[in-house]
Amino acid sequence: MLCQQLGLFGENLVAIDGSKFKAVNNRDRNFTSAKLKRRMEEVESSINRYLTALDAADRQEPTASEPSAVRLEEKITKLKTQMKELQAIEIQLNESPDKQVSLTDPDARSMMTRGTGIVGYNVQTAVDTQHHLIVAHEVTNYGSDRDQLSSMAKQARDAMASETLAVVADRGYFKSEEILACHDANITAYVPKPMTSSAKADGRFNKDAFVYDATKNEYICPAGESLPWRFSSIEKGMNMHCYWSSKCQGCALKRQCTPSKNRRVRRWEHEAVLEEMQHRLNHAPDMMRIRKRTVEHPFGTLKQWMGSTHFLTRKLVGVSAEMSLNVLAYNMKRVMNIIGTAGLLKAMAA
Ligand code: SF4
Repeated sequence: MLCQQLGLFGENLVAIDGSKFKAVNNRDRNFTSAKLKRRMEEVESSINRYLTALDAADRQEPTASEPSAVRLEEKITKLKTQMKELQAIEIQLNESPDKQVSLTDPDARSMMTRGTGIVGYNVQTAVDTQHHLIVAHEVTNYGSDRDQLSSMAKQARDAMASETLAVVADRGYFKSEEILACHDANITAYVPKPMTSSAKADGRFNKDAFVYDATKNEYICPAGESLPWRFSSIEKGMNMHCYWSSKCQGCALKRQCTPSKNRRVRRWEHEAVLEEMQHRLNHAPDMMRIRKRTVEHPFGTLKQWMGSTHFLTRKLVGVSAEMSLNVLAYNMKRVMNIIGTAGLLKAMAA
């Protein structure tokens, strides 16, 4: 509120980004189904190995074999106790919604960051592009950013008390439903589409080579043929329209287009919102550079303060409070740098 009153959110543009922070939970104390299965197999195979050794020891002279057999039995007992503990974790794991268990911090989750796995939290921030102040933040334990865009954008807009807002985020945030949610909330999103087209990867025409004609509700393909609407279906909860031409068989460009009988083009019922966003991105070449410059500052600073250590608190509620204090400290230091300590004190007293 103070930043808003001081007019520090000038551009009504925020960059949204997430970064993974380590939890107090050690990796060895986090279990996924695959990890648990692997650990159980290892224990099982060790038990079998010791049992075989025990059999061999039993067949030897009692005096020579006695100390060795006792040691082997102790090892087997220890491993059986370990197996019981793993079985108890398995029950917990099967009951947990995301099939994951963390023993030290039950809310911490295994997630990927820069090609390696950590057990931690995914901290989401919305950062204003003018002064790099953290306008909104949220600690989540979801490894992916795909479902976070509209929620963070709305939190930022509320914090800035602004009617309108533009948000920029990287490809990891691209999800059609999230972009539609921003559009419906009057928030202008800039999120590039991930490059996942199999046609393009195979050297064939990408979907953007097909031009949509809204008045006729059809696509025009690179050969100039029309692809009329054929049918609609629900795919992953989204209403998708399907288009194709009946001229593909005799088309000279078919090899560059499709290995199937016809090239089919799918269109989401709200595809126009995504097209509009792509159009905006094409006309804002600096936007991704602004994004990078904006989000690197706060996360870089926070991580430098925290060093290579993990959160000091446990569970989502504790970690959220800890991150809030870090964010508050970051924002106060930023404002002191912008308007000076005396200026901040004066504004706070007013
Ligand atoms: S194969 Fe069909 S969709 Fe592709 S360019 Fe030829 S006519 Fe058009």
